[in-house]
Amino acid sequence: MAGSDAEAFTYNGGIVEPGETQNIRYGISETYLGDPVRIPVTIVNGAEPGPTVFLSAAAHGDELNGIEVVREVAHEWNHDDLCGTLVCMPVLNVPGFLAQERYLPIYDRDLNRSFPGRAGSTSAKRMAHQIFRNFIAPCDLGLDFHTSTRGRTNMLHVRGDTSDPEVSRLAKAFGSNVIISSSGPSGTLRREASDYGVPTITIEMGEAHRFQRQFIDRGLEGVKSVLAEYGVHRTNAVRWPGWRTIIDEDMEKTWLRADTGGLVEMHYDRGSLVYEGDTICTITNPFKTDSDSVEAPFTGLLVGVLENPVVYPGNPLCHMVELEADTRRALKRDRAQSDDPNGDAAPPPEHTLPPESR
Ligand SMILES: [Zn+2]
Repeated sequence: MAGSDAEAFTYNGGIVEPGETQNIRYGISETYLGDPVRIPVTIVNGAEPGPTVFLSAAAHGDELNGIEVVREVAHEWNHDDLCGTLVCMPVLNVPGFLAQERYLPIYDRDLNRSFPGRAGSTSAKRMAHQIFRNFIAPCDLGLDFHTSTRGRTNMLHVRGDTSDPEVSRLAKAFGSNVIISSSGPSGTLRREASDYGVPTITIEMGEAHRFQRQFIDRGLEGVKSVLAEYGVHRTNAVRWPGWRTIIDEDMEKTWLRADTGGLVEMHYDRGSLVYEGDTICTITNPFKTDSDSVEAPFTGLLVGVLENPVVYPGNPLCHMVELEADTRRALKRDRAQSDDPNGDAAPPPEHTLPPESR
């Protein structure tokens, strides 16, 4: 039965008691026909007290991998021993999701630049306000799942402002190899929630328009590890990813961009280690008479690469971060052991360590 200290989760017009799970369709706007625009929300309130954690996906409507992570946590995991509350929102940007587009179709607004939102403002900010006020503000921490933009792909990595100790704890707890530290653009869910006092990270993984099982599985491992770190699921352990780099302001990171228009032959996959001077890709004209080689400006990791092989000058080709020598050695050792050249697979079970040895 419910522990004496467990609290009900309340939102505008609703209450979820300790030990109760509710599936809600919550209205955040209205269509041209006056019908409600409703986001699916599952609230799992544990019988025992603990932190309130939100999991969200598809703030960009065509970024699908996280949807399945959030749904499996909400509906396939056993939460009998849950200490705290999970607020699961698999599809934030419902109009974009229906159109299979990144942005809200209304004036092409980016929902993920509209938080925390505002009543009486634009349609995007009103939607963001409904989401933020009811389901983000009451939480203690949050995980927001994204993928690369259409036409590109990312290795799994975490983004968050690690200069904030609470965000740093959360980012590390997810157990990714790569953490890119920045405060993030204003209006993003992770920045605005973190500024509000709800430490939040973004998880980037894979491509838009796909369910990619290896990423979904790694995302689920990350959620398990976070819930272990905060004592929400006490039977799980926090994961150590085998090697880790935190890309802060002192480390090199860059988007390599095309200087010529053309067709791109990419020579490396996402997650590849490349050395300074390596040719990452070649851009050719239609007659293959002219080619432009793009070289790595420093030694590092290809966090994201182009998938759709066409570019105008200025289009991004790949996203690269610096890797220091000792991290490179750890990466090579780890990938040789797991027979996983690009690090897409989940780390082996021996990487699970008790918290005191991390
Ligand atoms: Zn996104």
